[in-house]
Amino acid sequence: MKTLGLIGGMSWESTAEYYRTLNELTRDRLGGLHSARLVLYSVDFADIEHLQAAGRWEEAGAILADAALALEAAGAELLLICTNTMHKVADQVAAAVSVPLLHLADATAAAVRAAGLRRVGLLGTAFTMEQDFYRGRLAATGGLDVLTPGADSRALVHRVIYEELCLGIIREESRAAYCRIIADLVAAGAEGIILGCTEIELLVHPEDSPVPVFPTARLHAEAAVTAALDDE
Ligand code: GLU
Repeated sequence: MKTLGLIGGMSWESTAEYYRTLNELTRDRLGGLHSARLVLYSVDFADIEHLQAAGRWEEAGAILADAALALEAAGAELLLICTNTMHKVADQVAAAVSVPLLHLADATAAAVRAAGLRRVGLLGTAFTMEQDFYRGRLAATGGLDVLTPGADSRALVHRVIYEELCLGIIREESRAAYCRIIADLVAAGAEGIILGCTEIELLVHPEDSPVPVFPTARLHAEAAVTAALDDE
């Protein structure tokens, strides 16, 4: 079993789910008292969020690169950045270490393709929905056709992530708003919905969508356990 290195805390609400899911999947695969071998470096999300909002990505990337180095020194053999948004600095992080990084967009695109779908709606932070580092990778490397909501809906999805989900607040009103946005994406042709922020799956569940949803924290954890146990 490989030792996983998690760069987490963005937010810790979803990192806690990664921890639970990685352990449950490892137990299910190996049985008995088996659990995931992992090291977690959890950052202070307030620092990262300030840098995101100021567009100071390189500095945020340096913090995550330091975390990656610490994880490598602690024995991690495969790294996960436990947030879609911070994959904006994935190349900077990967360049700092010699162990591989399991890219969240690639794990997600593989799951969408395995489900036989190609045209998907993408929900996430404004950075994830609007910039090329994530959508572009889903399209170029993943071969997907990606739809995003209109400007007002993107603003709502983004606000709920930072003002509610990252603080552990789950509101019915926000779930209903997300459901309406999902319905619009489906009407526009989406065959599936990528929950492209690791907290969204705390709010939106498969029954909230008329088409399959792709919960990225879960998919990332599944891909990590498969990679960790590859040679078992
Ligand atoms: N966890 C979120 C994501 O997957 C958002 C928090 C962040 O900005 O990193 O994008």
